[in-house]
Amino acid sequence: MKLLGLIAAVAACLSPLGASAAHSAEVPKSGLIAARGLTEKDFPRWRAILPDIYVYEDTHAPDPDGSVIGTVSLIVVTKDGVVLMDGQGDAMDGQRLVDTIRKLSPLPLKYVVVASDHIDHVGGNTEIKAAWPGAVFISSPASQKVLAKAPVVPTETVSDKRVITLGGTEFQILNLGRAHTGGDLAVYLPQTKVLFLGEIYARDIFPSQRSSYPSEWVATLKKAKTLDVSWYIPGHGFVDTMAEMRADLDASLKIQEYIVAEGKRLHALGLPCTNEGKPPVCEAAKQVNWGPFAAVPQTRGKQDIAINRVYMELDGKLPK
Ligand SMILES: [Zn+2]
Repeated sequence: MKLLGLIAAVAACLSPLGASAAHSAEVPKSGLIAARGLTEKDFPRWRAILPDIYVYEDTHAPDPDGSVIGTVSLIVVTKDGVVLMDGQGDAMDGQRLVDTIRKLSPLPLKYVVVASDHIDHVGGNTEIKAAWPGAVFISSPASQKVLAKAPVVPTETVSDKRVITLGGTEFQILNLGRAHTGGDLAVYLPQTKVLFLGEIYARDIFPSQRSSYPSEWVATLKKAKTLDVSWYIPGHGFVDTMAEMRADLDASLKIQEYIVAEGKRLHALGLPCTNEGKPPVCEAAKQVNWGPFAAVPQTRGKQDIAINRVYMELDGKLPK
């Protein structure tokens, strides 16, 4: 009986479905660090999802509601050097990232891909550049413009696609379309089918729309889903199993579609939503029934901005 129980337990662990179901039951659907009993002291932390491919998380500055999420970087070690996808938010976090990369490899950092130009992903780039002055920073043309006055300005840009091969590892830097920042890039590793999406993918948190292109974000997520992917890596939120990362990408797409659909519905009804005040006051947003999405962390306070952004899109007021 005891042995049979053991065999059953082992079988459950070996079955991908069983393992995933057990895992899902334990892990709350929340990108907040507190939801897992973690505090800022537990960060930074990193783990290899595949040999020489490390997911690195440090904490983001608290949301206005006090909640804290993680910011994700991806570190890939090759035989000829290291490639980093997105940095971290400030000097201290930047230095901790540098220290970790040095622990993972004695080889120099060769490339930094700026997938998101927002401060929480580039604020520590001065420390990275100081550690490896030869590292080449790559972004979209739009992000290069945004960062024109930043301490570290990307010197090379990708409008559509660029392939870099370093130490036998291929990196496809992809511009899949605008999403969270308007300068969004993704990086695909065809040999391992890892896709780093940066802020295109906000896992288990409300996708913040302050500088988004709402409908284009939907299209960009759908494009990401057409690639042959093993691991979808987000810019914020935990990295768990492959299956969970895929399922929650779909969930984030559903939220994005809902934001756009509700914005369009309210706009068609002629309900007001001004762009005045900080954050903007959107009367129409009060009419949204967020339904199951109301429970998504960091939704409150970001609803007006989200609906407002859809109005801007419909009114042709988004930055070109
Ligand atoms: Zn961010």
